[in-house]
Amino acid sequence: MVRSGTAQSKPGLPRSLRENTTWYETINNSSDIYRRRFLSALLIAGLFLPLFVAVLSWQSGESWNYLPLLAVEITLAAGLVASRLLPQRGVNILIGILLAAYPPAYAWGAFAPGNHQTYIFVLLCMPPIFDNLAPQRWYWHWCAYAVSVVAAVSFSSMFGAQSAWVTDFSPRIVLMLHGIFIVLWALRFVTRLQLRNYIAELADNIVRDKATGLPTIVAFRDAVQREKKTFVGLISVGNFRELSALFGYSISIEILSIAASRLQKMQEHLNGKAFRLRGHDFGFIREMAVGESALDVAHSVQSGLTGPIVFQDKTIELSYRIGYTVIADGDAEKALDEAEEALDMAEENGLDCAAYSIFGKKATEAEIHIADLMTLSRNVSNKTMSVFYQPIVSLSSGKTAWNEALVRFLGSGESYEEPTRFMELASTTGHWAAIEDFMFERAIAWACAEGGSVSVNIALKDLDREAIRKTIEAGARAAREKGSAIILEILEGDFGSASASRLQALKGLRDSGCLIAFDDFGTGYSNYSRLLTMPVDIVKFDRSMIKGARGTRAEATLLQGLIRFCYDIGALTVAEGIETKELADFATDVGFDFGQGYFWSKPVPEFSAVSAERTMLIAGKMARP
Ligand code: C2E
Ligand code: MG
Ligand code: MG
Repeated sequence: MVRSGTAQSKPGLPRSLRENTTWYETINNSSDIYRRRFLSALLIAGLFLPLFVAVLSWQSGESWNYLPLLAVEITLAAGLVASRLLPQRGVNILIGILLAAYPPAYAWGAFAPGNHQTYIFVLLCMPPIFDNLAPQRWYWHWCAYAVSVVAAVSFSSMFGAQSAWVTDFSPRIVLMLHGIFIVLWALRFVTRLQLRNYIAELADNIVRDKATGLPTIVAFRDAVQREKKTFVGLISVGNFRELSALFGYSISIEILSIAASRLQKMQEHLNGKAFRLRGHDFGFIREMAVGESALDVAHSVQSGLTGPIVFQDKTIELSYRIGYTVIADGDAEKALDEAEEALDMAEENGLDCAAYSIFGKKATEAEIHIADLMTLSRNVSNKTMSVFYQPIVSLSSGKTAWNEALVRFLGSGESYEEPTRFMELASTTGHWAAIEDFMFERAIAWACAEGGSVSVNIALKDLDREAIRKTIEAGARAAREKGSAIILEILEGDFGSASASRLQALKGLRDSGCLIAFDDFGTGYSNYSRLLTMPVDIVKFDRSMIKGARGTRAEATLLQGLIRFCYDIGALTVAEGIETKELADFATDVGFDFGQGYFWSKPVPEFSAVSAERTMLIAGKMARP
């Protein structure tokens, strides 16, 4: 079973999200249509009653009644016309007046002289009228108001106040009539409550995805429409098909749940909203602050999503792609189309994320590059990059043998970003040398202070610059005096471009006390004979080799052979990308000297890095741990 990112927590949808959907509003509006019809029917019925009373009054010779009856007829007729013609808001006001006028009318009906039985019957119908007409928001206010007036009038007339009740009915009849209506009202109330719960449940089923607990595309459309300037991202699990094919249906459910639970966390962290749109695609929206970069938001979402999961005792990396756009007109369909187009572009170009652009593919890539380029230039000119350190741990003693210095760039979101794409950009934009100078200056200072041995990544082309050679030579000497070593990590593939002068320079640096490490050994154009021809003290095996060797016997045999070979030529071996205890045990078993990976520590800033054991790697003297 999956151990990380559990799928258990599926909190219900917030009420605002459910009720802010077109779907829910349509139901509510249609109930408003019924309210309007009920109002019209009430007014039509009301028009006949004064006529009926007029006839009664005429028969009993109460001619003084005609004038108020006429006024009532005119008012009711005007109300009827208005209820048919007014817009929704106007109808609400009319209903408000009607409901407010009913209790005083009730009082008038009860206390006015003369025979008003018919009115009183109508007025007794008030509870159902309230129930049908009162707008949801005002329901309880009207109820409280009406009930208190009716109760006050009824009690005062029953207990002595001179009223039509006393002349027309006995108190017992009044009590009975009220009782009947209260029971009817209560029944009606319960039904109404049940109906509301039923609608809410129905809405929840439509608006909430059962598998992930996230709101669906229905809510997505409405949420986008309600926002102003919005980041709209479409997120796809990149290797979903491959993983489903490999592990079957059960993993697809787990992948969805894990992606959803990570997105749920991100909602709080980034103050955005996540949705499950369809299949294995998710949506993420977030209102953009002034001056905020959409690319930064996309990167934050991405970094929040990434991370390994363990399924059936195998560590699996989920890869995510994001296509995004920024809209300001609330057009959800357009936003979806644009984000989808961007996602397609990301897929076609093998990018992790891509922005929608009206200029198409090239502009999209350019846009990302420009944003990256700006971050890079800002970092180099303001020297805001930072050095993170990751320990290389002795597999026998568990102690830190040295730390690898890794550059980090300050993004516009004030978080430090990983270097690969910036370094690629730096090599073509003239920023490379400044970054390497910065890294060596800082790493050497740390090694000489208290950090112990440090390895720094370097490209062979850097060795063409005399300035950096001098810095490294002096640094290596100073570090050696403190009992530490400076290790140069060179990508194994980089040796393909090695000129004689560069190799000479490298040998010179080694003579001055540096150690040379082959980085990411086993990737790219691996040529194992380089181990014999190049000066090498440490070989860092790429994580793909270790993972591969765990899977097949042939690769395991090859790995063991290579480790044995390194041992024979006196080179120390490091297993890279160790993320789990199982991998660490495996690396120990196959004979690696050291390990590096998230299992021990991710790269961390200098202030939280653990200094290396000085006794373990003494400059110039290599010691197996
Ligand atoms: P690298 O030299 O092979 O550095 C190791 C990379 O692997 C680091 O990525 C590190 O965060 C990552 N890593 C460490 N443990 C694990 C693990 O358990 N699992 C996984 N998945 N990854 C792990 P980072 O910092 O993003 O650096 C990427 C590459 O960028 C480095 O690969 C190095 O080639 C280059 N780089 C970093 N800093 C510098 C620098 O100052 N100068 C130069 N020239 N290149 C640099
Ligand atoms: Mg390295
Ligand atoms: Mg490496």
